[in-house]
Amino acid sequence: MSEKFEQIAQVVRDHQRFAVLSHVRPDGDALGSQLAVGLSLQKLGKEVRIWNEEGMLDKYRFLPRAELLTKPPAQPEDVDVAIALDTAIQNRLGTTVAAIKSAKLWVNIDHHPSNPGYGDIVCIDPKSPATGQILFELMNDQKLPIDSAIATNLYVAISTDTGSFQYPNTTARTLDIAAELVRHGVDVGKVSQLTYENYPRRRIELLRELLGTMRFDANDRVASFSLSLATAKKLGVLPEDNEGLIDHLRAIRGVIVAAFFEELADGKVRVSMRSKSEKVNVCAICEKFGGGGHVLAAGARAKGTLAEVEKKVLEEVCHVVGRSNS
Ligand code: AMP
Ligand code: MN
Ligand code: MN
Repeated sequence: MSEKFEQIAQVVRDHQRFAVLSHVRPDGDALGSQLAVGLSLQKLGKEVRIWNEEGMLDKYRFLPRAELLTKPPAQPEDVDVAIALDTAIQNRLGTTVAAIKSAKLWVNIDHHPSNPGYGDIVCIDPKSPATGQILFELMNDQKLPIDSAIATNLYVAISTDTGSFQYPNTTARTLDIAAELVRHGVDVGKVSQLTYENYPRRRIELLRELLGTMRFDANDRVASFSLSLATAKKLGVLPEDNEGLIDHLRAIRGVIVAAFFEELADGKVRVSMRSKSEKVNVCAICEKFGGGGHVLAAGARAKGTLAEVEKKVLEEVCHVVGRSNS
């Protein structure tokens, strides 16, 4: 990794205008990583654009300097370097790519094992639980600026992708880094409250509806629920409202795979999946439906009605769970 970090630091030294991008339907790792990199580059005197197709989500507006992250402009702009963070496939960068007129170099920093390695400088560490963790290692190794705002963004990135330091991807190194970030000025109590105890009432009303559709398959080893467009409209649900709700299914004793199906306006269904067993690789399942992700957390967007996709995907999940003897 140190060699990769050296290459990235060289790119930073040699260029002036940067665009920092991440995936559509962003999560804490995407947005926190984008702001952390953007702020660090700014401290070095660089000209930085921080763009996400959806702009800053309301729920992450507490991130330090959140106002710097915007939707991409309608007219493309010239930059020297584009940095893609936490994005397994390039088309998940959405409309941000069209906003870049020209970039001499593409840098790809990610932790998804399914990332094919697009770009000129590729730094992928599938062992890392969050892109934010790779970024800390990079900044630390190459002595790039880290202040309390940058540290807080990295802390939220790592905390959200590890389920608040609970998932098996959390290592001793992750906890060492978290401690280091706290030394850089993260207020753990305040940040945790803003991240996990500040949901709009709408989200819990959504959970109530989802639990009404909950079903169990494969002898209760597979649990799922679904959200129709009609229900989403009735409650005024925002895409960001459902991040993490799938964990209620994962938390059930005996459940190996949790799945969440969300009807989208474009005739597709967003599938979100979690596994509690290394023997059941949900990334492989989601790849069959055009998606990807990690062994224990993956997703896809599948064509079809809600009922069709639910049926096809659950059949495949039950097949894999049955074969795994989990
Ligand atoms: P989510 O269930 O949306 O939190 O996503 C879980 C994991 O699966 C994340 O690491 C995503 O990067 C990945 N993922 C989700 N949706 C897709 C997709 N449509 N294509 C590829 N990977 C995805
Ligand atoms: Mn992400
Ligand atoms: Mn991530």
